[in-house]
Parts: sequence; structure tokens; C-alpha cells
Amino acid sequence: MSGIVYDKIALIGIGLIGSSLARVIRQKGLAREISIATRSAETLETARKLGLGDSYSTSSAAAVTDADLVIVSVPVGASGAVAKEIAGSLKPGATLTDVGSTKASVIAQMEPHVPEGVHFIPGHPLAGTEHSGPEAGFPELFENKWCIFTPLPGTDEAALAKLTEFWEACGSQVDIMDKAHHDKVLAIVSHLPHIIAYNIVGTADDLETVTESEVIKYSASGFRDFTRLAASDPTMWRDVCLHNKDAILEMLSRFSEDLASLQRAIRWGDGDKLFDLFTHTRHVRRSIIEAGQDTAAPDFGRVPKKD
Ligand code: NAP
Repeated sequence: MSGIVYDKIALIGIGLIGSSLARVIRQKGLAREISIATRSAETLETARKLGLGDSYSTSSAAAVTDADLVIVSVPVGASGAVAKEIAGSLKPGATLTDVGSTKASVIAQMEPHVPEGVHFIPGHPLAGTEHSGPEAGFPELFENKWCIFTPLPGTDEAALAKLTEFWEACGSQVDIMDKAHHDKVLAIVSHLPHIIAYNIVGTADDLETVTESEVIKYSASGFRDFTRLAASDPTMWRDVCLHNKDAILEMLSRFSEDLASLQRAIRWGDGDKLFDLFTHTRHVRRSIIEAGQDTAAPDFGRVPKKD
């Protein structure tokens, strides 16, 4: 029990991220009231059955009424439409934030709709799984993970401090970044790995000389680890690619150059070059474990957690 940070929190979008927030808010008592809105009656019914909130609506505008904190957790391409819908119902002095995986595009879509007196603080929790929907969430999702804010110039310090307190109570550490820098960093640490995984799984699926049953049967030799990323939500990742296009293309071109260099080393039998690269990358993996961002367990510690 951490104690109330906001009286009423409205969650717009109740998938993996929104429902994990609902669960941790409830578990730690971070709000007196949770109102939930989602686009479809079906998802709303699932949220209701799971008991994720105190009130439920398919109208985002209705859900944000009187809310002190509004968290938008929808695919990034839908951010502008949601901001437009809720704009007239936001309470003066409320904080509006989001969890979108790209920041420059979300800011461009949402900022024009934010009324005077509402504190818009864009955010991105670096926490997720390959699962989606309200049933996929769990309260520990944000524990020991980073949440990055990309505040706009002139952001109210008190509103920022309170949102920081909220995310810290959810178990996260908070960092502040410029939106363009965020989008570049995330392009390399998150977006490119997913694109590479989608690509390699697609390539394996297209091969004519190796059967699909062989790909699946022998997958534990490496392929399996890519399939987790490649199982991620298609809508979310379509939107990430469309809304962080420039940074992703820049990182992809760096990646292609480095891949060509690796290809050359293999062609010319340059064992030293291969050994040096593979030694260096092994250190990177060890640093991630030392930083507490993964475990050394053979299953990567990814035993599914459920509340
Ligand atoms: P999710 O589980 O697929 O849930 C998506 C939610 O958004 C659902 O409530 C869905 O409503 C709603 N939605 C979908 N399309 C919409 C539209 N066009 N307009 C309005 N609402 C719409 O997604 P998620 O994984 O929670 O991701 C939500 C956000 O978090 C995304 O912006 C993503 O970039 C970001 N994020 C995701 C992860 C991750 O690993 N998953 C990590 C960090 C940040 P209905 O079901 O009612 O249609």
C-alpha cells in the first residue's frame, strides 16, 4: 500500500498497459477512483468482469470527467483522435499523460487539442510483453523498469513531480528526455529488434528448402528467441513503424552497413573480426543483467506472471 497520489484516475485504453496500470493502482491504493474507457463494448465487458475499475464507458469523454490524472494507453496512431475526443471534458488542473512507444508523433497529434490549464506530460514506460488486451496485464509489469517523460517546454514542476511520484509508486524509475532523443534511443533498443525479429521469422517462414515443421522442431537453437518479439501486437507495431519512421530508417541503414561488414568478414574468413565482435556483444549482455534489466536464467526469467 503506497497511498493515494491522485483522487480520480481515468484510463483510456485498457489493454496490456492500461490494465497493468489499473491493477497496480488498485493494489497500491494510488487512487480513490479508477474510471475506464475503451473503444469496444467487448473489451469494456472484459475489463468489467476482471473488476479493473470503478466505472466503465465506451466514451473517453465521459471517463475523463473530473479525473485528476488521465492516462491514454492506445496505439500511437490513435492518440490524436483520443485527445480530440476528451479535450472538452478534461478538468482544469488535471494531468494528461500517455504511454505511447513513440513521442514526437504523439506530441504532434495530442498537443494541439490540450486545453489551457491542463498539464500534458508525455510518457513512455519501457515495460511490456508480447501479449495484449485487458487479460494480459499484471501489477508487477512496471517494477524495476524505466518510465521516460518527454515534457514540453514550460511544464509545471509540481505536476511533473506528482506524475513522477505516481510512476515511482508503480515500481518504475523515471528519466527525462527530449522527444527526438527518445525516438532515436527507442529506435535502436526496441523498434529495430522488433523489426529484425519480424523479418527473420518472415524469412524462415518463406524458405522453400527448410520445412515449417523443421523450423519449429529445432527452434530452441536460437530462432525461438526472435519469435517472442515477432509475436507482438501487429496494430501496435504497425503504428510504431509508421510514427517513428525517420529514426527507424536511420537506425536500419546503420544496421544494414554493419550487417554488410559482418557478411564480408564471414565471406573472407576473418575469424578475428568475428571473435572480437562476438566478445564485445557478450559484454553488452552481461551489462544488461548487471543493470537488473534481465536475469541470467536460461528462460530469461520470463515465466508468465499473473495476479
Ligand atoms: P493493447 O493491449 O492492444 O490495448 C490497446 C487498447 O487501445 C485497447 O483498449 C483498445 O481498445 C484500444 N484501441 C485500439 N485501437 C484503438 C483506436 N484506433 N482508437 C481508440 N482506442 C483503440 O495495447 P498495449 O500493449 O496496452 O499498448 C498501448 C500503448 O502502449 C501503445 O501506444 C503502445 O505503443 C504502448 N506501449 C506498449 C508496450 C507493449 O509492450 N505492449 C510497452 C510500452 C508502451 P479495444 O480493445 O476496445 O478496441
